[in-house]
Parts: sequence; C-alpha cells; structure tokens
Amino acid sequence: MSKSMATIPYGRQNISDADIEAVAAVLRSDFLTQGPLVLSFERELARFCDATHAVAVNSATSALHIACLALGVGSGDLVWTCTNTFLASANCALYCGAEADFIDIDAATLNMSVVDLEQRLAMAASGRRLPKVLIPVHFGGLPCDMEAIAALARKYNVRVIEDASHAIGGRYADGSPVGNCRYSDITVFSFHPVKIMTTGEGGAALTNDSQLARSMELLRAHGMTRDVGEMTRPSDGPWYYEQVALGYNYRMTELQAALGLSQLPKVPHWVQRRHALAGQYDSQLATLPLVLPPRGEPAYSGLHLYVVQIDENRTTRTRAQVFEAMRAAGIGVNVHYIPVHTQPYFRRRVQRSLPHAEAYYRRCLTIPMYASLTDDELRTVIVRLAEALQ
Ligand SMILES: *Cc1c(COP(=O)(O)O)cnc(C)c1O
Repeated sequence: MSKSMATIPYGRQNISDADIEAVAAVLRSDFLTQGPLVLSFERELARFCDATHAVAVNSATSALHIACLALGVGSGDLVWTCTNTFLASANCALYCGAEADFIDIDAATLNMSVVDLEQRLAMAASGRRLPKVLIPVHFGGLPCDMEAIAALARKYNVRVIEDASHAIGGRYADGSPVGNCRYSDITVFSFHPVKIMTTGEGGAALTNDSQLARSMELLRAHGMTRDVGEMTRPSDGPWYYEQVALGYNYRMTELQAALGLSQLPKVPHWVQRRHALAGQYDSQLATLPLVLPPRGEPAYSGLHLYVVQIDENRTTRTRAQVFEAMRAAGIGVNVHYIPVHTQPYFRRRVQRSLPHAEAYYRRCLTIPMYASLTDDELRTVIVRLAEALQ
C-alpha cells in the first residue's frame, strides 16, 4: 500500500448485512424508485425527529434547493448562511436566482455567531436589505443556539432553514431532537456516505407546515400533481395530471429508502459511540498543543466531525505540516471548511472579511470520527497526531 493512501479515513459509512439484505430485497421487488419504502422512510424520519412531515430527496443539496423555493426565494432576494460550511448551503440561494451572503463564526462554538448575526440584521434592516432566508448550519453536529437565532428571525421577519447535514441524532439545548423544526421553517439532512447515516446519496427536508411540505413534494417531482384539488382544469380522464409548478427530478429511490429505513434506528447508538470516542480524544489530546472542539452542553452534538485546531502559541508546526504528516502516516485527516466567502466564485459577488472563520480555517484539522472506529484505531490516531506535533 502506498504511503500516501489513507488507511483510517476521517469518516466512513457503517453497512451491515441487514442493510445489504434490505437493499437487495428492493431489487427483487416491483418498485425501484419513489414508492412505498420512500413513504415509510419519510414517516419514520419525521417520527424520529418529532416533526410532522419529511420529504425525502436525492441529496441534501436538492433538499436545500426546494426548501428555498418553497419559502419563495427568487431573483432579488438574499439568503444568509454561515461561512464555515459546505458550498451547498450557499449555492441553493443562487439556484433560485437569489444572492448569498455570509455570517462569521463564534470562535468558541464554531457555529454561526449570534452576535455577528444580530449586528448584521440591524444594519440590513436600516438599509432595507434584509435576507429572506437564514440558513444556520449545525457544524460538526453541534446544534446552533437556535433559540437566539429563532428570536432574531422573528424580530426581523426572516425565514429559517436549518442545515442539519451533520446533526441527525443530536439534541438542542432544550433536549428536543434536531429536526423537530421548533425553531425553523424547514430542517435539512444529508445521507451522503460520510455523514452519520447514509442512503448512498440522499437527503430530506422536514417541516411542521403542511403547505411547505406539499410544495416541496411537488418541487422534487417536476411540479406534477394527480390531486384534483390542486388542478386548475377538470380532469381529462384517469391518466390526467397537471404541472402546477416548475419542479425537478429530485426523487429518492426505493433502494435508498430501504437503506435509510435500515440505518435510521441505529443512529442513537452510533451517536453514543461517537460521544465515547470524542471523550477519549478529549482526555488523551488535552496535553497536546491543540484547541479541542466544543462539546456544547447542554446541547447534544451529532458529532459528525471531530475538529482540532493547531495552537500556534504552543507549537511551531503548521496545519499543513501536521496534515501532511498525518496523511503520510495513513490517517485520513481533512479540513472543514474553507470559508465559503473566500471562494473565488463568491468573492466576485461579495467581498467581506470574516476574521474568526478565516483564523479558524488556518488552524483546523478534522481527525477520524465514525461509529465503527475501533479503540485501537483511535489510539493510532492519537499517537500519530502527537508525533506530527513534535
Ligand atoms: C454534506 C453537506 C451538504 C450537502 O449534502 P449532499 O447530500 O451531499 O448534497 C450540505 N451542507 C452541509 C453542511 C454538508 O455537510
């Protein structure tokens, strides 16, 4: 095996024989795409999160897109998200013809800074350029301070989509499950293989608003309806359908839903295991020149990522040196995230400096965190990291 090949990745899926059987059974059945299993998956997911509706789609990117459309985002509108996120949290605004802008992080939580948000909203209100939608991201799985964010959103009449791609199985500070939409209009999950649970590719949008749910159902499947109540003309016959919106083909397959149904019940156990691993990292990395990630109590993180920051005051090693040493030692470290506002594509649209996110980016390093990481592998990661920092 080549030296640069990672033997312990930073994240990976967890697939059991039961998962494989569930998917194989779909292949022997009558329905391959969006059928009864997608409906069951949506029902189970909504129940798991204590939300009323779940709309399953082919990715979280698609879910973010139809969530924005359902909230009426269009040309001339603004969508704000946190800069410490994956590109998709911002691109969804541009898909709708709107513009994206970015909020800095809180250096302690690594989530959207409520202080920066409050100042920017006050400024935007006086300039009459308020965002239509705000997309907080539960970074690494740690829920944002949703109570504060929801209060600001109410005050300024801004709608909220939670990007909970990292956070299934997490709980807000009030103890209730992420995804219950108590603090938002819509919550989005990703089931990409590197996330907490997977459907291969896949995502979902949850909401407690039946109109938003119906609108997203139409948008994921061409804007087509067979419901006479939604039609503008009398039916031509039993074959008749109408297009009532410009929708897309964002359907989830039955294979994906079967995998999701098989994975979902294991999420609480997996998140518990992630917390046990994080506890070991917290205690065994404490003496190294690192800033360890926030655990965020009383909120309960989904712990998708475990991100350390190289403490420049206590080591001469740079993040690049540590990154390369870890990769050479077979540890698949990564960097989450390059602040989206610094991407050339967004730089052309908005120039601003967000100093906390930029400083964080220079130091951050994601180390392996997934439920099937063994105690031995965890020890290897710790030993290699200590060596890389020497
Ligand atoms: C992974 C991810 C997405 C996109 O998810 P896909 O399912 O791959 O489209 C969006 N936002 C965040 C924060 C993510 O981590």
